[in-house]
Amino acid sequence: MASLLKVLGSYSFLAMLYLSTKNPRLRVTVSEAVLCGLASDGGLFMPESVPWLGSDFFATCAPRLSLQQIACRMLSSYFEPEFNSRQIGEIVSSAFNFPCPIIKLSDSLFALELFHGPTLAFKDFGARFMAGVLSSLLQRSQQNATVLVATSGDTGSAVANAFFNCKNVRVVVLYPKGRVSKIQEMQMTTLGGNIHALEVEGSFDDCQRMVKEAFRDQSLSRFNLTSANSINIARFIPQMVYYAYAFSRLATYRNISFSVPSGNFGNLCAGLLAKRMGLPAKIFFAATNINDAVPRYLESGVIKRGPSKITISNAMDVGDPSNFSRIEHLYPEGATALREDLCGGSFTDKETVAAIRELYNRYCYHADPHAAVGYLGAQKLNHAGQKIFLATASPYKFGNYLACTIKSELPTALNECLKRKKKSTSIGADSKELKNYIINRPLCD
Ligand SMILES: *Cc1c(COP(=O)(O)O)cnc(C)c1O
Repeated sequence: MASLLKVLGSYSFLAMLYLSTKNPRLRVTVSEAVLCGLASDGGLFMPESVPWLGSDFFATCAPRLSLQQIACRMLSSYFEPEFNSRQIGEIVSSAFNFPCPIIKLSDSLFALELFHGPTLAFKDFGARFMAGVLSSLLQRSQQNATVLVATSGDTGSAVANAFFNCKNVRVVVLYPKGRVSKIQEMQMTTLGGNIHALEVEGSFDDCQRMVKEAFRDQSLSRFNLTSANSINIARFIPQMVYYAYAFSRLATYRNISFSVPSGNFGNLCAGLLAKRMGLPAKIFFAATNINDAVPRYLESGVIKRGPSKITISNAMDVGDPSNFSRIEHLYPEGATALREDLCGGSFTDKETVAAIRELYNRYCYHADPHAAVGYLGAQKLNHAGQKIFLATASPYKFGNYLACTIKSELPTALNECLKRKKKSTSIGADSKELKNYIINRPLCD
C-alpha cells in the first residue's frame, strides 16, 4: 500500500482529509482512506469535517435534480481534488444506473426501494461506487489490489458483482457456511474469474475478525489488501444520496422521517451524515432484528456488544456493529444528543413474518424480511408526518417468507446465476488459513 500511495502523491492541501475514529490527529487523504479501508490504529475513517449544503439545497434545489445530479453535488467535496467533478460524474452514472422508486403505500407511508441494482439489494449502491473509485486509483498507479470482504450475505454478492472483471482487482469474499441464503451464495460463488469465494466454518463475526487480522498482518502488505465492507468510505459515503433523493421527491411534505433496517449500521450512519449536511429529515429510526445492540444503547446509554444471533433477516445478524464508532464520532456528547436524531427498536422473526403478511394484505405490497423490519420501525414512529422505510432487498431474494407467491418471473440476473456452477473453497474460522489462501492463490483462477 505504501508504494501505491507514493505513486498517487499527496493532495493534503485544500483536500478533505479523513481521520480515525480512534485518534482524530491521525489524518489521511481520500486515496489512502479508500485503499487502506481501516485506519492504521484500527479506527474507522470519518471526514474531518462535514460539508454543509443547507436545507434549501435539499428542499428547493434537489427536487429539480436527478438522483445522479444530487449524488454529484453531495459527494464531490468528499472526493475532491483526487477526483474532479467530471470523474465523480462518470463514476456516479455508471454506478447508479438503475431506478430507485419511492412507492406510496398510504398518505403517510412510503417504501424507498433500493434493490433494483444487479444483486437486488441496496449494497449495490455503495459497492458499485467503490468499484469505480478503486479501479480509477489503481489504473493511475498501474498496480493491483486484493479486496477482502466479510459478508453476512448481501455485501459479498454486491461487491463480487461490482468488481467482476475489474482488471486490477482480485476479490476474496468470506461468508459464514450455511448462514446465507441459497440465492446470495449463488450470486457470490458462480462468477469465477477475479472473484474468489471462501466458505468459512463459523459466524459472520468470525469472518469479520479474520479480515481485520489479515489487514493488521504486515507480511501481507505486498498484496495491497483493501476492504469493501461498509467500513470503507467509498462504500459508506455514497449511501447518503438516496435519503436526499427520497426527501427531494416528497419535499412538499414537511415532516419526513426514515426507518432504516440495520445490522452493521453503515446505511443508517450515512443517513445521519446527510442530516449533518443539512437534510431536513425529522428523525431516523434504527430498526433491528433481535441483534439489538444499538436500540439498547439508545435506551440505556451503554453499548453492549455480543455474538450475533441468527434470524430470518440475516443480512442484519450483527452482534457488534462496526459503524457504531462512526455514530459515536458524530455524536461525541453521547446517547442524549443522539436521541434527538435517532430512535430505535428491535423486532422478532415472528413480528417480521406477521409484518410481511400485513404489508401484503393491507397494501398489496411484497416485502422481504429486511424491508419488513424497516416497516415495523416506521409503525413505531408515532408522530404526524411522512414515514419512509428503506426496502433494502428484493422479495425475490428471500422468497420463502412471502405472504403469497409472486406471479411474475424471477429477474433475469437471478435466473442466470442460479443456472451456473457453485465454485467456493471451504476454510476454518482461522486467520492462518486465510493468510495461506491470500499468498498462494493467483489473481485470477
Ligand atoms: C446489509 C443489509 C442491511 C443492513 O445494512 P447495514 O448498513 O449493515 O446496517 C439491511 N438489509 C439488507 C438487505 C442488507 O443487505
